Amino acid sequence: MIVKPQLARLGLFDAKVPRYTSYPTAPHFSNDVGSSLYGDWISDIKPGSSISLYIHVPFCRRLCWFCACRTQGTQTDNPVIAYVDVLKAELDLLAARLPEGVTLSRLHWGGGTPTLLNPDLMRDLAAHILDVVPLGPNAEFSVEIDPNEIDEARLDALAEAGMNRASIGVQDFDDEIQKTIGRIQSYDTTRKAAEMIRERGIHSLNADILYGLPHQTKTRMTESVQKLLSLNPDRVALYGYAHVPWMAKRQQMIPSDALPTPEQRLDLFDTARRLFMWDNYAEIGIDHFATQEDGLTRALKTGKLKRNFQGYTDDQAEVLIGVGASSISRFPQGYAQNAPATSAHTKAIREGRFSTSRGHLFKGQDILRSRLIEALMCDFKINSAEILRDHGISVSELNQMYQSANAAFDNLLSITEDGLFIPPEARPLTRMIARSFDAYDLSKAGHSSAI
Ligand code: SF4
Repeated sequence: MIVKPQLARLGLFDAKVPRYTSYPTAPHFSNDVGSSLYGDWISDIKPGSSISLYIHVPFCRRLCWFCACRTQGTQTDNPVIAYVDVLKAELDLLAARLPEGVTLSRLHWGGGTPTLLNPDLMRDLAAHILDVVPLGPNAEFSVEIDPNEIDEARLDALAEAGMNRASIGVQDFDDEIQKTIGRIQSYDTTRKAAEMIRERGIHSLNADILYGLPHQTKTRMTESVQKLLSLNPDRVALYGYAHVPWMAKRQQMIPSDALPTPEQRLDLFDTARRLFMWDNYAEIGIDHFATQEDGLTRALKTGKLKRNFQGYTDDQAEVLIGVGASSISRFPQGYAQNAPATSAHTKAIREGRFSTSRGHLFKGQDILRSRLIEALMCDFKINSAEILRDHGISVSELNQMYQSANAAFDNLLSITEDGLFIPPEARPLTRMIARSFDAYDLSKAGHSSAI
């Protein structure tokens, strides 16, 4: 059994590693991809195929101190109304390029706070999206819902538009922790939001909570997870709080000396993890949990679990298009990212062109390494037969990759004829093991703690 001193020696408590929601990761994007190439990639989508759409709303009513999202605070609706017009214009540019018969497999509204749109704006935006690309059979339409920024009228509008999965942010239910991270959201507010969502027939509920927050202890983590479990979420994302005050200035409000140590972070994660497992949730990849009936659990059991910019997904669409400032799209040819600043994005769209400012064109072993890393992050194993079948690599080259990863981790990994496996006790090291299959220079990019 692997123990903390061994994890420490292997660098778990010091390492900064990517979360691998893409490969290569966003810091390696360059200006090789611009709006014209992005437009060509849209035109190249197979007619009649399924794609996914992510709509980004970079506005919030208040700016929580812990949050490193690029988002603007606004107390009025005016910037949001103007932004929805820009989103609609961007969707029109997309419509002009999209081949015939394309439908949506997934539609996700994220941010920021998409629920600060008023009900009329929600209806208008949803109608416009579905006019450009209709929902396909069994499509999922999910929205990130801020329990502090939702009411009956807005949920009615979303339910009428076809939302069938809701995602609520929780972070932690403890009062002192909430005050310290600058986000007050009582248990009653969250419970009421969950009830209002379910009353409208939306039975798929996701929740996000954080470990590694200031003043968090195992007892407080236990209380928060138990409160969360009382809401019966179908999926839970248990993310590590990343304290990067030099990048996210708001985090300077959070006292560094109240943060748990990396060793304590591992204990907090493990405390929450055990509670989900006792409650019969399936463990999904490195940081998600889902009920046995949930689509993520089915995808895990059938080897179809995937990873994209939103984390784990059962979506099988080859193309994911991001609409809105800073959104990232993925195509079989590579990645394309819209201009991060809302002003630059708006300017480009008003001039009648996509705002694509950077991206990555897949080359060399990118697609092979992307799949090796995704397989480790999703299944904790690499199936050699699948890789040899799909990626034209030789057995000896693949084995060489396995051997060098294993050597870097005290030979903790298991290598058999079937492939490479991360044993359960070594799973805290998964992101670091995935890094050993990453051919890019990671020294320049700022990544988050491995735990
Ligand atoms: S946590 Fe949500 S509401 Fe708070 S600043 Fe971040 S995106 Fe906005």
